[in-house]
Amino acid sequence: MNDLFARHRAVSPDWLTLYYDRPLEITHGEGRHVWDADGKRYLDFFGGILTTMTAHALPEVTKAISEQAGRILHSSTLYLNRPLVDLAERVATLSGIPDARVFFTTSGTEANDTALLLATTYRGSNQILAMRNSYHGRSFSTVSVTGNRGWSPTSLSPLQTLYVHGGVRTRGPYAELTDAEFIAACVRDLEDLLGHTRRPAALIAEPIQGVGGFTSPPDGLYAAFREVLDRHGILWISDEVQTGWGRTGDHFWGWQAHARNGPPDILTFAKGIGNGMSVGGVVARSEVMNCLDANSISTFGGSPVTMAAGLANLTYLLDHDLQGNARRVGGLLVERLRALAARVPSVHEVRGRGLMIGIELVEPGTDRAAPEAAAAVLEAAREGGLLIGKGGGHSTSVLRIAPPLSLSVAEAEEGASILGEALRAAG
Ligand code: PMP
Repeated sequence: MNDLFARHRAVSPDWLTLYYDRPLEITHGEGRHVWDADGKRYLDFFGGILTTMTAHALPEVTKAISEQAGRILHSSTLYLNRPLVDLAERVATLSGIPDARVFFTTSGTEANDTALLLATTYRGSNQILAMRNSYHGRSFSTVSVTGNRGWSPTSLSPLQTLYVHGGVRTRGPYAELTDAEFIAACVRDLEDLLGHTRRPAALIAEPIQGVGGFTSPPDGLYAAFREVLDRHGILWISDEVQTGWGRTGDHFWGWQAHARNGPPDILTFAKGIGNGMSVGGVVARSEVMNCLDANSISTFGGSPVTMAAGLANLTYLLDHDLQGNARRVGGLLVERLRALAARVPSVHEVRGRGLMIGIELVEPGTDRAAPEAAAAVLEAAREGGLLIGKGGGHSTSVLRIAPPLSLSVAEAEEGASILGEALRAAG
């Protein structure tokens, strides 16, 4: 293991960070558990960054992958691809976007990059509105709409980005306001900003900010924004890379928490749909999707094996109502965590929705972020046999909990008690 770590360090970029003082090599998984190279078993509450959506080694997905792999791995976008059309039809219907077209990519970054290409071309503008504390990917275009200093390594950009208030409810200048006042203040800020801009193409936003520490505005903010955007003809791109497919329990998509005036113009997805296979994509109404007047392909996007995996995974998710499970088990988990956290002075807030739960840590008695405490809890949880993640905007001080959506009540209770111990030990 130490040898592998040394080899990783020697050959990989320095900015490719690993979790833990002694990084973990995960060798296999089953259900909601994974095992390391020493044979130690862990309850997995992070799912490889919200990507193992249903379960590890789900037999239905494994079978679909191996059957498709036995037939053909690749043919390219030059030929008809049945699993791609099957999955695209289902995603188009599920998206809620009328007259929807679907384009598959290999990652969330590439999906958002495509959304930016569509919106800027459709509107003939390179101005983009994005949220502070956001994360949209690692490419040259997506880091330039990422309002999180820790994940945006350059300010050189093909886009002119203007950052809007509202992604973070409990920090910043509007934190003390009521929900209705908060929304009104953010809308006024947006309107003021638009008074100083030329002709923005789109607003891109995560309904719940993932990398930013599972922060979100009050329900309805994006609906209120939508009314303003509509007046100016500005498109709304909902980045559902973390919030899609029922993860938030209450809704199938994160945008539905804001839905009173309908779906976004463009929706992007990735992570969970492939359950670990590289599937990302964009949905847009045909008028927007078809605005490009040149060819565009993703050689690997929509490859038959990944599409077969996505189809099997989506079928399992819907047949077993994993959205309902996320609501029920996530609700119980958040309650347990709130009860445990009430006794830990470094916990500032336990927030979340469904199986997307954040615990923000501060220096006790202040609202100063406590990244060392978050790192210590991560280590202690690992020792206790639980894997969690972390995130956060100004510093990495939010614990992120996002298990596969098939989590059982017993596993939720077990994970909560390990985390309770870890919080007490570290904070
Ligand atoms: N958007 C969001 C909201 C994300 O959380 C991520 C990944 N963390 C991305 C886009 C980029 O996805 P990928 O890493 O698959 O390129």
